[in-house]
Amino acid sequence: GSKFLDVILNRSNLRWPLPSDMPKRLKFSLVKKVSRRGKYILIEMDNLNTLIIHLGMTGRIIITKDDLSQEDVGAFYHNTARNSKTLTKVWEKHDHVVFKFVNMKGKEQNLIYNDIRRFGAMDLVKSEAVLSHKWLRNLGPEPLSSEFSLKYLEKRLLRKKNTIKAALMSQEVVAGIGNIYASEILWKSRVSPLRLSDTLRRIEINRIIKETKNVLNNAILKGGSSLKDFRNTSGGMGYFQMHFSVYDREKESCKNKKCSNKIQRIIQSGRSSFFCNNCQH
Ligand SMILES: [Zn+2]
Repeated sequence: GSKFLDVILNRSNLRWPLPSDMPKRLKFSLVKKVSRRGKYILIEMDNLNTLIIHLGMTGRIIITKDDLSQEDVGAFYHNTARNSKTLTKVWEKHDHVVFKFVNMKGKEQNLIYNDIRRFGAMDLVKSEAVLSHKWLRNLGPEPLSSEFSLKYLEKRLLRKKNTIKAALMSQEVVAGIGNIYASEILWKSRVSPLRLSDTLRRIEINRIIKETKNVLNNAILKGGSSLKDFRNTSGGMGYFQMHFSVYDREKESCKNKKCSNKIQRIIQSGRSSFFCNNCQH
């Protein structure tokens, strides 16, 4: 794989402090595997270290082209224009970490971590300890895995005292579902975001499982895999093409053809939930 030549830390912290020994530990190591767990990107190196990256709210990864001109593969929806002809000798504002590497064709490229609000995070750990890292060890199953089943969710929800919206977004029940998809899944499942988790019937939980998988598979199809191209896991470029059923549609007509209601917006745990109180109970 690609080989890291250097790591430049333009600041000492994002949401949490950045490991100060990151440049030393990554220099001259080869990328072995890139994967994802929940909202975390995992870059496994051949020297038994794994880099963990969370993009937070506004984080994005920019990979320069072979000639070091910039190609923005990880833009989120507040895309900022970058001059594609500019050589990246001087870092732009919010370019907090720059990984210089040589690709498999022997050409030099930069992987730039840019984050306006700095809710993102990075850590570098021993590969064998990555799944027991404090950020990852309590993550629930991946929503597209067979582990995320009726039997599993029924059991988890019975023990939850909060709303189903909060449960879907709690990364411990299921990993990787953000605010936008939680609203979409619940509308398609005809379950109100205000319902208490332990009051859901089996048939409703079954719909939530099915619609979670449908909504996410559809998003991957339309927006490209976040795993493949580092798109922001909480607001990727794919959102430009996405047509949401309820998200960000306050006061617009419900998309259920048999319903004449308007979509409502409420605030739950500081985040917007969108729903139809005629279709969702
Ligand atoms: Zn409706």
